[in-house]
Amino acid sequence: MTRLPALALTLALLAACAAPAPRPPAAPTPAAPAASAENFELDNLNAVVWARTSAEAEALHRQSYAMAKRALDMALADPGWTAATEQSGDFSRLPPAVIVDVDETVLDTSDYMVERFRNGRPFDKADWNRYVQRENATPIPGARDFLSYAASKGVTVFYVSNRSVADAAAGIADEVEPSRRNLAKFGFPNTDSTQTFLFRDKPRGWQEKSPRRAEVAKTHRILMLVGDNLYDFVDIENADRDKRALAVQKHLAWLGTRWIVIANPMYGSWEQVVAGYDTGAAGRKARLEAVGVPGAVADRIADGGFER
Ligand SMILES: [Mg+2]
Repeated sequence: MTRLPALALTLALLAACAAPAPRPPAAPTPAAPAASAENFELDNLNAVVWARTSAEAEALHRQSYAMAKRALDMALADPGWTAATEQSGDFSRLPPAVIVDVDETVLDTSDYMVERFRNGRPFDKADWNRYVQRENATPIPGARDFLSYAASKGVTVFYVSNRSVADAAAGIADEVEPSRRNLAKFGFPNTDSTQTFLFRDKPRGWQEKSPRRAEVAKTHRILMLVGDNLYDFVDIENADRDKRALAVQKHLAWLGTRWIVIANPMYGSWEQVVAGYDTGAAGRKARLEAVGVPGAVADRIADGGFER
C-alpha cells in the first residue's frame, strides 16, 4: 500500500521531466551549512603545550630563579647596585626591594590561553577580567622560593603588573585585590595588603611601568627586576624590533643578575612589533612575513593554503 503512491509520484515526476515544460520558478537556494570559522587561537597551541607540559619549561623557570637567588646576595652587599634605569641620586641607604611582574613571572595563567583555544576568541579585556576574578592562577616554579628567600633577607617585594585597578567606564572590575588573594593563597611574601601592588592605573599615570618603577625607586633601592616582557625592565617609546634588540644589547651585563628574564613563548609585546594588534588571518600573515615568508604567498598560506 505504501509503495504505490511513491511509485505513482516517481512516474509523474519522470513524465514531467521528459516533457518540455515552462521553466519552473527557481527554488530558493538551500542555506549552505555554516562554514566553521577557523580557530586562529590554535596557532599558539605548541607554545602553550610547552608552557603547560614540558619539563624544560619548569627547568628554565627554576634556573632563572636560581640565578636570581645567587645574584641577590651580591646585590645586597653592594650599596651602589640598582636594577632600575629610573633610579638615580644617592640610593645607597634606601631599604632594598625587588620588583616582579605577575603574569607568567610569578603566576602561571596559561589556563586562560586554554580557554581561548576552546572559545576561539583572541585576547579580550572582559574575558581576562573574569579570569582574574577567579583567583585560580598557579605559581611559576621557583618564584615563591626566591621571593621568600628575598623577604627573609629584609627585601620588600613589589608586584608591578599591567593587571588593572577598577575602571568602571570600561566595565572592568578591580584586579588588585583578587590578585593579592591569589598570591597570598600560595604564600607569596608582601601580600598582606595591596600597598606593594602597583597595577595599571590610568588616572594615576600608571599606564606603562617606568613611572611605577620610579615610584618604588623613591623609597627603595631596587635590587632586581623579574619579568617575562622587555617592558618589565625598561620602557621603549615607539618600539620596533631594532629598538627592542638594542635595549637588550645595552644591558647585557645585567642579564641574570639585575634583570631576571622568565621565558614566555605564549604572548608578549614582541608580538605587537610584528603584527600590531592584528588577529585572525591578518595577524597570521604578518607573523609569516616576520619569519621570512614572502608577502606574495603569505596571504595564501595565512588562509590555509600552500606555496606550491
Ligand atoms: Mg608578564
